[in-house]
Amino acid sequence: MDEALKTDIFHPERAIDSIADFIADPVQAAAFPQTILRFRNDRAARTVGLDSLDDAQWIAHFGRFNPLPDAQPAPLALRYHGHQFRAYNPDLGDGRGFLFAQMRETESAGGRLLDLGTKGSGLTPWSRTADGRLTLKGGVREILATEMLESLGVTTSRTFSIIETGEDLVRGDEPSPTRSAVMVRLSHGHIRIGSFQRLAYHDQTEEIARLIDYCLRHLLALEPGEVPALTLLNAVVERTADLAASYMVAGFVHGVLNSDNIAITGESFDYGPWRFTPRWEPGFTAAYFDQTGLYAFARQAEAIHWDVAQLAQSLVSHAEADALVEVLRRYPAIYEARLIERFLWRLGLTAPDGDTARTFVIAAVEALRGSDVLIDRFFFDWRRGDHDEARYPGAVWEKARSAFGALSQRPGALDHPYWQSDTPCSMHIDEVEAIWAPIAERDDWSALHSKVEAIRAMGQAHGSVPGQPRASRGE
Ligand code: AMP
Ligand code: MG
Repeated sequence: MDEALKTDIFHPERAIDSIADFIADPVQAAAFPQTILRFRNDRAARTVGLDSLDDAQWIAHFGRFNPLPDAQPAPLALRYHGHQFRAYNPDLGDGRGFLFAQMRETESAGGRLLDLGTKGSGLTPWSRTADGRLTLKGGVREILATEMLESLGVTTSRTFSIIETGEDLVRGDEPSPTRSAVMVRLSHGHIRIGSFQRLAYHDQTEEIARLIDYCLRHLLALEPGEVPALTLLNAVVERTADLAASYMVAGFVHGVLNSDNIAITGESFDYGPWRFTPRWEPGFTAAYFDQTGLYAFARQAEAIHWDVAQLAQSLVSHAEADALVEVLRRYPAIYEARLIERFLWRLGLTAPDGDTARTFVIAAVEALRGSDVLIDRFFFDWRRGDHDEARYPGAVWEKARSAFGALSQRPGALDHPYWQSDTPCSMHIDEVEAIWAPIAERDDWSALHSKVEAIRAMGQAHGSVPGQPRASRGE
């Protein structure tokens, strides 16, 4: 049935087999009453050779989970623990998802080993008292978050497929009953900090060594070095500090930065109660249940650093504690450097030296913090040079303006027609709701599709962040 597969591009691999004995359990997908294809990400599918599937084949694989040729024969639910809002929970694991298949992306997309994983695919040994399902609205929200983040330069999992599954779900945070869906995402790895925490909790020292080896070899493409645990922690520190910086420059609040939601590759994933903060409001929180603001906008770097410290803690049987702490200490400086680089990237600027860049970014953040200006509007205006005193009055903006004068525009920074539009593309909560409403009311998906198109155009206007693998953007 898969004659349509581009076998020259589709390269399944089964790396997970080498650690499945201690990290995964075979599970079955739920048999859904319906499978209605709602979203297929052909741009992402092209990078792994799956775009040539017709819709019926797509549904057979990503709604009913018939194995892909030469990929793993059965879904695997992964085991993990984690700190949720700083409280340790040994009862986590893939409760409504599984790893469906692993495959190599094309060389031009980066050549990484990628995972197709699910959300809402049914019960697993880790479902606890929950239903193993995903709401359709949750799926739509995940499309919007991932598309927007990708276009704003964040390294993120991509929403690969959404299939409506015809069940009625009851949820506290949505009008219920509400519609159900199964989602497939394309991720750079499924191993998270909580995967290591679980092994440490059970004193599985040898398995920790095997998992370190798996991550270095298959996910990070790094030589193990003298102390593999330190090589791993170094990479995680670098990638997660960049992740935190990327959230700030995107104006994004993930909402649930628990250690089970932080991937070893530093790729952003698992979008629940996320929001984009309209203004640079440090205390802006996304999750209604985050009453102390632990994961507020400006606390995200600190929150992720804390999670990475839990990884370090899980590695103490494989490296000297002092050496692990040394590596952890690198995080704040990397975060700051990446924040500055990404801030200038979003503005299409280059700086003659690091101090000039830093002076500007500090002044701009200072001005944004006390102002009513929308984050997206700031980046849009300043990139276009629309930053005169009438629009941006007062001493703090004047300081930012004068620091801005020492920077130069990147060649081609304004080439894309996006920069001639009136309004920057945004994804504030009112817009999310406005896209969902016609779907809920009359199955009208047009607003979603046109928004995805607009977001992708914005992504092309920005180009890619130097040094980031940008799988599906090169077109
Ligand atoms: P999350 O907040 O999405 O990272 O999920 C935390 C934990 O709860 C993970 O172990 C999930 O698999 C599990 N979980 C979340 N929602 C459900 C659900 N509807 N059914 C089963 N498990 C769930
Ligand atoms: Mg999670």
